[in-house]
Amino acid sequence: MATDYDAPRKTEDDSESIEALKERVPDKLSGAVDVEDADNPSGFELPGADLSDLELDVVVLPAQEDEFTCIECFLVKHRTQIHHENAIGAVCVECAA
Ligand SMILES: [Zn+2]
Repeated sequence: MATDYDAPRKTEDDSESIEALKERVPDKLSGAVDVEDADNPSGFELPGADLSDLELDVVVLPAQEDEFTCIECFLVKHRTQIHHENAIGAVCVECAA
């Protein structure tokens, strides 16, 4: 394997392949952009794409154990800012004021 890699023929082949790649790259890039543009608004059906990033952008994480979502302003705040709780949920001190 190593002896074949050091052969001078390989160097010539590499330079040729690089030129060939340069011609192919624009096509690949434009195709990828088209796919992303088409799939982003339609949903999460594209496999192997930036699914994790999309989920981070879209999904709102639930309140942590020491946090709550105010039912008046819908902001997630620390539990120390709960003014009172009722059957629906908690109201922050700012909304209760
Ligand atoms: Zn509030």
